[in-house]
Amino acid sequence: MTGNHPSDATLLAYAAGSLPLAHAMVVRTHLALCPDCREAARLGVSLGGALLEDAPPADLAGDALERTLARLDEQEPLAPAQRVPSTIEELATGRWIWLGPGIRLMPLIRRGADGARLDLIRVKPGACLPGHGHTGMELACVLKGAFQDETGEYRAGDFAEGDEALDHCPVALPVDGECVCLISTSGRLRAHSWLARLIQPIFDV
Ligand SMILES: [Zn+2]
Repeated sequence: MTGNHPSDATLLAYAAGSLPLAHAMVVRTHLALCPDCREAARLGVSLGGALLEDAPPADLAGDALERTLARLDEQEPLAPAQRVPSTIEELATGRWIWLGPGIRLMPLIRRGADGARLDLIRVKPGACLPGHGHTGMELACVLKGAFQDETGEYRAGDFAEGDEALDHCPVALPVDGECVCLISTSGRLRAHSWLARLIQPIFDV
């Protein structure tokens, strides 16, 4: 049980399969660590199915079935209960790049057609990310250590969620060494410092 969880809207979007893959990966990683949210996502799937069963029949476009079947091939299914990579060792399949003093980033999914990207980030205790915001959503799951920002304190297993209204300067806390997070972002980075402007080109691809 962790203190910070996805919003109902995000869990439902995850259960409905409507989140971009990078965001779904962060939710899925939190679900692997949080039985309560796993159960909530499972109920969301059942509820969605029940609502569809109760919905009055509607006229469908002629190619609706074809389009639905085509969608099944678009992404791997994100069944909440399946075994998913949730440890740093399992997730860290790329190369760490230097982002600033005490900060390293490993890109995992580049920004695709859905506009979202996925990264691992590790930050030494006391180091802070340069002040920034995003024009879209930012989701994070803490895998190790802890950080705090303007919205609160997050420890291993916790889930942090921000939208375009969030502007923050996350700082790693001296808990269990480096803070390592899986982070998905959509939209452009809004830089509020010279260092953030320096790393903006890395984030905007
Ligand atoms: Zn949870």
